[in-house]
Amino acid sequence: MDISTKLIHLGKSSAKPLQSVNPPIVKTSTVTFPDLEAFIDSKTQMVFENLRYGRYGTQVNFDLQHAMAEIEGTETCIATSSGMSAIVAVLSAYAELGKHILMSEGVYKSTKRFCDQELAKRGIETTYFTKDDSIEKLIRSDTSLIYIEVPASSKLQLLDIRRISEVAHQHGITVASDSTWGTPIFFQPHAFGVDLSIHSATKYINGHSDVILGLITGTRQKMAPVREWCYRHGSHAAPDSCWLTLRGLRTLNVRMKIHQKNTMIVAKWLKAQKEIDQVVYPPFFTGKDATLWNTQFSGGAGPFKAILQPCKRQNFEQFINSLELFSLGASYGGYSSLITPEISNLNNSEDAYTIRLHIGLENPEDLCQDLRTGLNSIDLI
Ligand SMILES: *Cc1c(COP(=O)(O)O)cnc(C)c1O
Repeated sequence: MDISTKLIHLGKSSAKPLQSVNPPIVKTSTVTFPDLEAFIDSKTQMVFENLRYGRYGTQVNFDLQHAMAEIEGTETCIATSSGMSAIVAVLSAYAELGKHILMSEGVYKSTKRFCDQELAKRGIETTYFTKDDSIEKLIRSDTSLIYIEVPASSKLQLLDIRRISEVAHQHGITVASDSTWGTPIFFQPHAFGVDLSIHSATKYINGHSDVILGLITGTRQKMAPVREWCYRHGSHAAPDSCWLTLRGLRTLNVRMKIHQKNTMIVAKWLKAQKEIDQVVYPPFFTGKDATLWNTQFSGGAGPFKAILQPCKRQNFEQFINSLELFSLGASYGGYSSLITPEISNLNNSEDAYTIRLHIGLENPEDLCQDLRTGLNSIDLI
């Protein structure tokens, strides 16, 4: 079955008995049982997959998790309170099994912060690697996890995921990926050997900038330590958030296609503007990176950034502040366009400033027009 059909028809088990298209939201802490046998039975069932206690989820959580596991072509899924909590669950659960984590460079900043400031305190070391490093040389006898994010949030770096998975598995090491940017529409991590796939569903999957939620998928075996960690640490995903995310999933395919089409139009247009020095967008990559992109991703809407020609800080500020369709803010993946400047050089009175863009579902010509009006504030130096 094609993913577009799966997105529409999966995760319906709690809607059907109510003769409804969509599931109900049940808000409960207590789960009541009809008799003693059912109560005892509930204790033997898989946590986060069966009605047991509100913290472990209700039917709508299970519907979302079931749909997501199927969409990513694997066995099981756990929803968590945020993308970050999903990342923390995977890193913590697997850090406990060794003393060393290998992580690709340029990952989401809070992920790196958790490794450097939290796992380090627990005696777990993290080594960062790039696509040019030899994984074989970096693996240690106490390495328990290889964690990747492709394209990486910071510089949009790519990796040969299949090769990394093969080497990891030869050494009995588990591979986890932050798959947020690709979404299940453009990227199928498990098909490249990734064992655990993590999504900030906050972004494209929910797609409406009104939910914070994380999702982790994998086989029952690889998910077992994560499930256990979530069980011990009071992990919870709210039913309302799962409900909205399941609704977002229904239109993910159509939204991603438009996000991609619009991003391509705006990125091409920006590249041609005299105020823009460089556009960094994976579909524009050349050489080896183009091969990595084309063999692993069937499309891409983000991340995407542009480096401006050097200009005065004051002009750059006028440009950002004059935009009407692009809101200044982070958390990309919603229906409306966003812009954020990279803050590294914003204290300089003049520089080649960098902007990150999220292209929403507006008409792309309107978006280009908005950017053009803004760019008119810039006198090149
Ligand atoms: C936003 C984001 C996260 C964190 O997700 P939250 O739901 O905001 O906690 C993790 N990874 C990537 C790549 C993200 O963009």
